[in-house]
Amino acid sequence: MKALVDRKKCTLCEVCVDVCPFSAIIVGETTIEITDECTLCGMCVDTCEFGALSLPEVGAGPAADLGAYKGVWVFAEWREGTVHRVSHELLSTGRVLADKRGVPLAAVLLGHNLSEDSAKELVAFGADTVYVVDYPELAHFADDTYADVLVELVRAKKPEILLAGATSIGRSFIPRVAASLHTGLTADCTELDISADGLLLQTRPAFGGNVMATIICPNKRPQMATVRPKVMKPSKQPTHQGEVVPVSVPEACLKSRVEVLEVIPEKDQTAKLTEADAIVSGGRGLKKPENFALIEELAQLIKGAVGASRGAVEEGWIAPSHQVGQTGRTVSPSLYMAVGIAGAIQHLVGMQSSKVIVAVNKDPMAPIFDVATYGVVADLFEFIPAFIKKIKQERGD
Ligand SMILES: Cc1cc2nc3c(=O)[nH]c(=O)nc-3n(C[C@H](O)[C@H](O)[C@H](O)COP(=O)(O)OP(=O)(O)OC[C@H]3O[C@@H](n4cnc5c(N)ncnc54)[C@H](O)[C@@H]3O)c2cc1C
Repeated sequence: MKALVDRKKCTLCEVCVDVCPFSAIIVGETTIEITDECTLCGMCVDTCEFGALSLPEVGAGPAADLGAYKGVWVFAEWREGTVHRVSHELLSTGRVLADKRGVPLAAVLLGHNLSEDSAKELVAFGADTVYVVDYPELAHFADDTYADVLVELVRAKKPEILLAGATSIGRSFIPRVAASLHTGLTADCTELDISADGLLLQTRPAFGGNVMATIICPNKRPQMATVRPKVMKPSKQPTHQGEVVPVSVPEACLKSRVEVLEVIPEKDQTAKLTEADAIVSGGRGLKKPENFALIEELAQLIKGAVGASRGAVEEGWIAPSHQVGQTGRTVSPSLYMAVGIAGAIQHLVGMQSSKVIVAVNKDPMAPIFDVATYGVVADLFEFIPAFIKKIKQERGD
């Protein structure tokens, strides 16, 4: 599928040719032509002042009865006895959206032997209602059962918005839920808001992170979005009151084609990176792999984890599990030190919500300084060893 040209309206002004980021528009004999490179991004449509370009309807089908859907839902991710922190973050954001819209906020908790405390905690993070679906078949995550149960609940109770974490679990089954419900899904949102008429404004990086796109889902319900952990801030409201409602589902929803034989807990650096309160990250400015020893020494000294830019990972200086950014991990520690990292937008989206950001770069114009709380314009090979020495001196090491 590609953008459509109304040949009667095209004046061959060629403005769209320059605008297309994919070079998918060429000049024909009497009008422009769209090539197979077209991704339906719509930039040409917005630019054409003659209304000669449009996008084809993509599987739109009939619009949903929008008025029948009410409320904001958060899928509360439960793993081996604990609720993932992203669910608390999403409830806090969901609370703001629900209040703006004047509708209730609910959490949906799926699992087995779910403790009352887990459900009550979701209330403390803002849920008015916690729907608890507790079956032995839900003890371990499986795409098919989790998707079927969530689809069943959405069909029955019709929330207008459904949010989930862009975790390995969320990424795995939420697209299936959206497809079953014939609605849209925006993955990896970095910001969520709501318009006066109830449209969820779902902002995420697009075109390799070079622009931030705000996506809406005007004709289908629920409006679905996933958000990575640590992008949004959790905010506890201990006095908030809510109800816990056990829900039963038809047996057919619980039949899975997957058998879980064993669950092996994750023990790699990635987990440490996303949980760390302090992170020291190194970039291509380190010049060679041995120099990561400087980053490791500083990280150890401040009891932090080691992060990296994709530049450093691509050089093969450090494992991909350390990468911070759009295609790496999203982190939000109290202290993030970016050493020899330029600050490309794809790196920034993974760390800019850190509490304090310290950037060390010899180029005063490096974009990392735009988000830094403290900027050090210096050669890292002079500054970092001196900084390490100073910390050791202060501690009397
Ligand atoms: C689709 C896509 C996804 C991406 N995802 C990610 C991602 O998840 N994470 C990510 O990080 N990037 C990502 N990138 C890559 C990103 O665009 C940058 O290329 C990358 O972040 C650059 O890494 P860098 O800053 O280490 O390297 P460079 O851009 O080479 O910057 C090195 C910096 O070190 C400084 N420097 C050099 N020597 C010294 C010195 N002696 N002392 C102090 N400073 C010094 C330089 O001034 C420079 O600012 C992605 C790109 C694309 C297209």
